[in-house]
Amino acid sequence: MVTFNVGSALMDKVLALSDQIEAEVIRIRRDIHKHPELSFKEERTARLVADRLRLMGVQVTEKIAGNGVMGIIEGRSAGKTVALRADMDALPLQENSGLAFESVNPGVMHACGHDFHTANLLGVAYVLSNLHQEWDGTLKLIFQTGEENGGGAREMIKEGILESPRVEALVGMHALPAPRGYLSLGYGASTAFSDRITLTVKGKKAHASKPQQGVDAIVIAAQIINALQTVLTRQIDPIETATFSLGKINGGTASNIVPDLVEIVGTMRCFSLDVRETMKASIAQIASSIAAGMGGECEVAFREGYPAVVNDERLTNIVKDVACSLYGEIRGRTPDVISSPVQELVKIDGPRLAAEDFGFYSQKVPACLYWVGTGSLTPLHSADFTINEDIAKITLPLMSLTALAIL
Ligand SMILES: [Zn+2]
Ligand SMILES: [Zn+2]
Repeated sequence: MVTFNVGSALMDKVLALSDQIEAEVIRIRRDIHKHPELSFKEERTARLVADRLRLMGVQVTEKIAGNGVMGIIEGRSAGKTVALRADMDALPLQENSGLAFESVNPGVMHACGHDFHTANLLGVAYVLSNLHQEWDGTLKLIFQTGEENGGGAREMIKEGILESPRVEALVGMHALPAPRGYLSLGYGASTAFSDRITLTVKGKKAHASKPQQGVDAIVIAAQIINALQTVLTRQIDPIETATFSLGKINGGTASNIVPDLVEIVGTMRCFSLDVRETMKASIAQIASSIAAGMGGECEVAFREGYPAVVNDERLTNIVKDVACSLYGEIRGRTPDVISSPVQELVKIDGPRLAAEDFGFYSQKVPACLYWVGTGSLTPLHSADFTINEDIAKITLPLMSLTALAIL
């Protein structure tokens, strides 16, 4: 079923306006890249976004959950409210990309593409505000604070970002290390639940020469760590996807003291609420019963991280259909930008075990997060992460047309 109903005259206008704004979008992206700011500290970026939106005549609300910015564009007459989301924050990482516009803030870097997401959404705002006489409804632009650390989406939702007017559909884009223009889409759960696990093993101190007088927390921890691996192979349905890693362990004070305390911290990821509950229960039960069996104790705590992003089927079909017809069009006009056959680029992919706080939105409203190939294979969150900026030729009209198709 084809859900895409934007006329070809409108497609031409979107492509022409995207062309017009592309160089400016790349300038803005470089400016943001050079001045990255950590989660919830995006003051300069938020100011830049708000100033740009005002220049386009967009209604702006600032300081939502700290540095969040909202823009509203009204169409020709009343209709649906569709929201587009970009995140603005960077990572605590020293850049080593060699780019001319490398970060000037030591230890802070845009290594997740949020600079590009933000600049792209400003470009889309330009395209759609110029065309506001051609569509009905309301467009809400969400420039989000604190995606990487702390769940800015949850905070902005608490402050009412999805209300008045009530958002009926929400779409977002994320950069993906993949060939240029590769579009990865998923139905249903498409990123993982991500939770933090903390195991605190308690024993009893003793001198190393008299171990029988103590309870060795390190020995207990070793048993627990090994036994927990069976959660994945023995407790979870092999059809399901789940993983956890214990990334940090701390314990003991001296070479000749039987230690009384070990702390183990890890992360678990999975796609379903059922699996999440099974994993939590199994981890807690195995850890505490092993500790008890060895005369100690283990406290198990979970801190809920981001919920899975669950893509709405109808919206996902719209993005797919828009992309197929747009890619065909771009391929006809500028074959160097899209050189592979469309069916090789637009893919329905399985879920990825990444975590994205977009999941908070998808719990509240029909939503779709799609991933666009950066044209570079350097991984997200790496010091040499780069984006082939040519993809703006795809990402600007893709998001603009998707919004129009939903409206
Ligand atoms: Zn990230
Ligand atoms: Zn990200």
